[in-house]
Amino acid sequence: MRAALREQDPRAYQILAREAERQNMGLELIASENFVSRAVLEAMGSVLTNKYAEGLPGRRYYGGCQFVDEAERLAQERAKALFGAEWVNVQPHSGAQANAAVYLTLLKPGDVFLGLNLAHGGHLTHGSPVNFSGILYRAEYYGVHPETGRIDMDEVRDKALQIRPRLISIGASAYPRDFDYAAFREIADEVGAFLWMDMAHTAGLIAAKLLNDPLPHCHIVSTTTHKTLRGPRGGMLLMGRDFDNPFGLVAPKSGRLKRMSELFDSAVFPGIQGGPLMHVILAKAVALGEALQPDFVEYAQQVIRNARALAERLLEHGYELVSGGTDNHLVLVDLRSRGLTGKQAEEALERAGITVNKNMVPFDTQSPLVTSGIRIGTPAVTTRGFKEPEIRYVADLIHEVLSDPDNETVLERVRNKVLELCRQFPLYDFVSIGDPAELSASRL
Ligand SMILES: *Cc1c(COP(=O)(O)O)cnc(C)c1O
Repeated sequence: MRAALREQDPRAYQILAREAERQNMGLELIASENFVSRAVLEAMGSVLTNKYAEGLPGRRYYGGCQFVDEAERLAQERAKALFGAEWVNVQPHSGAQANAAVYLTLLKPGDVFLGLNLAHGGHLTHGSPVNFSGILYRAEYYGVHPETGRIDMDEVRDKALQIRPRLISIGASAYPRDFDYAAFREIADEVGAFLWMDMAHTAGLIAAKLLNDPLPHCHIVSTTTHKTLRGPRGGMLLMGRDFDNPFGLVAPKSGRLKRMSELFDSAVFPGIQGGPLMHVILAKAVALGEALQPDFVEYAQQVIRNARALAERLLEHGYELVSGGTDNHLVLVDLRSRGLTGKQAEEALERAGITVNKNMVPFDTQSPLVTSGIRIGTPAVTTRGFKEPEIRYVADLIHEVLSDPDNETVLERVRNKVLELCRQFPLYDFVSIGDPAELSASRL
């Protein structure tokens, strides 16, 4: 299948083959990762990468766009159907780019916004001092309650009344519970702020209607397409309802008040991006088409059932979970009571073939490079076919490692069990790229 690459550039080919092997033979429990279908891979690795298509379908700055126009319209149409959106922009290259377009549209440099504390599950692009969002704008935070581990709506309201933000953001990378969008909207209305949900992690579960729907309540929703949505690496913006912009900006010729959709569209291009990645947009259309099929709902249900089974089993083994469990696709384990850091746990598990990431827990006493927790997610292994019995077994393996993280014999024993499990659930049949001898040589 990748004969040209193999012939022409054996070094690049070897890298690809070894990464495919790593994905096939390890347990991927990073909550933000997933495995796309072969159809999505094909759309991405296609000649659409050759095409410049700045602008929007029907209004491009280049000729020859008739077919990529169809690709983008297909992606838009499917995204609208999947999420019940009136407007969508499928061009953001990533989640961070989608978020940049939100800030560029709604805030001026120096404006204040209110978001979830990064140490309580918030994302880098929600005001980290090393990210543009924290450099250009003034970030203030709400957090989770120390006892419940859940977002404290009283605190959100108090903070909002106190700082009067222009924008309130919702959304997280490490928050195992759902959000009360209606309550957020009430607060946003009370202080005159825009409300924005960044559903990067949970978009697939929201599409399957298994979590609360942000679109009816938020002015703007951003997402990635590659996490629970299981599409190509990329971003997207959506609005449940388009509305007249409150800035009074008018269209130059007609003098008509612009719509928010026009402002967001121009924030993506020319605001922060040049030419859209048309191969990725075609792949987004394919993935959105998959997400519209009934078996995607079954997949999303299984993701949540698996996360619950994982949580229950870890609790049985005596682990402490932030908020005591999960509503979505991830659990956040607080390792402080086990005398382990997130870094130690991540490293030991990695050596046993189990990939998780170290993660800050609320009110963490360790630095972000060490942390006191690990985040474990089920989207990727669920795509692989794992159900509750396999997930419980995975929890047992995690426990086996974390009970004796420095014992090489234990790590080796678990590594072999992981390999056995992976063989029972082959990932990409076509990833037997290259001949087996070459692969086993590279496995070293
Ligand atoms: C992953 C994530 C992003 C960023 O997405 P990238 O595609 O990595 O830029 C933004 N917001 C949240 C909440 C995320 O989890």
